[in-house]
Amino acid sequence: MRFVGLLLIGISLVGCATAAPDGDAVRVRWQVASLKDVNEICNDGIPPANRKRAVGCYRRSFDECTIYTADLKEDPDLHDTLGHELRHCFVGRFHR
Ligand SMILES: [Zn+2]
Repeated sequence: MRFVGLLLIGISLVGCATAAPDGDAVRVRWQVASLKDVNEICNDGIPPANRKRAVGCYRRSFDECTIYTADLKEDPDLHDTLGHELRHCFVGRFHR
């Protein structure tokens, strides 16, 4: 797995984002891996029958959030995926 970037994002620096759930800054780490590895990471702990094909996911603990994605070659919608997972980092679960 290749480490691509580490971003420190203060809410005040992200004009279009809403506040993080706790109102504090969130440290965001972006890790790019093969699509196969992303699927394994994102489906970790999920029973095989319930696993889905994942192009990205996030894992948040306290003020740190890690986003896992494939690269642009394996995910042509990488920008959407990254934005989607970043939103999760700030607001948690938003799917209905
Ligand atoms: Zn989602």
